Amino acid sequence: MKILVVGSGGREHALAWKLAQSERIQMVYVAPGNGGTARDTRLVNVNITDLHELANFVESEGISLTVVGPETPLAGGIVNLFRARGLKVFGPTKEAAQLESSKDFAKAFMQRHGIPTAKYQTFSDVAQAHAYIDANGAPIVIKADGLAAGKGVVVALSLDEAHRAVDDMLADNRFGDAGARIVIEEFLAGEEASFIVMCDGKNILPLATSQDHKRLKDNDEGPNTGGMGAYSPAPIVTPAMHARVMREIINPTIAGMAKDGIVFTGFLYAGLMIDAAGNPRTLEFNCRMGDPETQPIMSRLKTDLVAVMEHAVNGTLDQIELEWDRRTAVGVVLAAAGYPDAPLKGAVIEGIPAETPETVTFHAGTAEVDGQLQVTGGRVLCVVGLGDSVKLAQKTAYEVVDQISFEGMQCRRDIGWRGLKH
Ligand code: ATP
Repeated sequence: MKILVVGSGGREHALAWKLAQSERIQMVYVAPGNGGTARDTRLVNVNITDLHELANFVESEGISLTVVGPETPLAGGIVNLFRARGLKVFGPTKEAAQLESSKDFAKAFMQRHGIPTAKYQTFSDVAQAHAYIDANGAPIVIKADGLAAGKGVVVALSLDEAHRAVDDMLADNRFGDAGARIVIEEFLAGEEASFIVMCDGKNILPLATSQDHKRLKDNDEGPNTGGMGAYSPAPIVTPAMHARVMREIINPTIAGMAKDGIVFTGFLYAGLMIDAAGNPRTLEFNCRMGDPETQPIMSRLKTDLVAVMEHAVNGTLDQIELEWDRRTAVGVVLAAAGYPDAPLKGAVIEGIPAETPETVTFHAGTAEVDGQLQVTGGRVLCVVGLGDSVKLAQKTAYEVVDQISFEGMQCRRDIGWRGLKH
């Protein structure tokens, strides 16, 4: 069978890589893909981003199902469009994707359905936002309402910083329409974890747990990024915590959507903050898999992903059990010089070793130009290492990282540090 993966990041490379391992696969297309999906002989890049044209391509090529990676086509209604044309697609509808595409929608939804999250208020008036900050003090968190590629959140440690963030977003319009409304919320302390499940409209199938590393630099310093590395599983999510998150957050979210008249299908990602007393609260929802979490998670999945996707689009996820590699996977992101503010493109990438049973390198911002692999985006590669402990997985990943080079390459040297603590 033929499958299409929509997107061009490391997440999509990892999904396509896993799908292509299935014996039943004839071809995996990736639209538009990257330099890594172009080099992989089992994958074919398709240079189409327009959703109608993609649907035409799926019809003419006889593609059986489509998996959507990023949030933008989901918020743009790719699932609604494909379904209206009778095409099988795994992802949330535009209406369901509001859980991610509007923070105000997500917060109001959580409040309405009693899902634990930070206290908040939404503003479009600058003066009222400033007054709320003065009344509540710092630390406090300011978020652009709409999609801002992980960059629309300011965790303000001082009142000054908080007021500046409000001016940036509301008065100076830094995020355009996405920042025309802002959510201001209570600062939550604790440890973050990524909790991702698949939903087919009736059944919920949890994936392996993971933890991302949002800050650019070691020790969680520097600016927020799209994610500098992730590892799986996350020891903080013990079996008891897992059961609690399902009971208090995931199940009520899917049930709450249904009560509001929205059937949720697709990946649901709850970004959790677990406080010192062990109480999980929801920082955010994403309606897709995380990037870079997908890379270590897919590296550990043993079950045929094609079969999983078929159950997902046919509403039979209750009929499949996922089998995971017992080893830990650590994924280290290699980013371009200047990332996240102004990534420099064009550097030539060298030294990526071949995949082994312990390591695989997924591509994101890369392209093949005149036979050379070049940097084309902020996050360039994600090197995954597998090992019997976090420490061993780290060692394997960093041995590969040290073989790869491009001008100005940035990476953290401490991916998985929380796992080492446990
Ligand atoms: P992405 O989609 O890239 O994950 P986002 O733009 O949707 O990011 P959030 O996940 O809501 O933004 O926030 C980004 C980061 O900011 C979180 O991972 C967390 O580290 C921090 N953060 C967000 N809300 C809070 C909060 N209430 N208290 C403390 N930290 C927070």
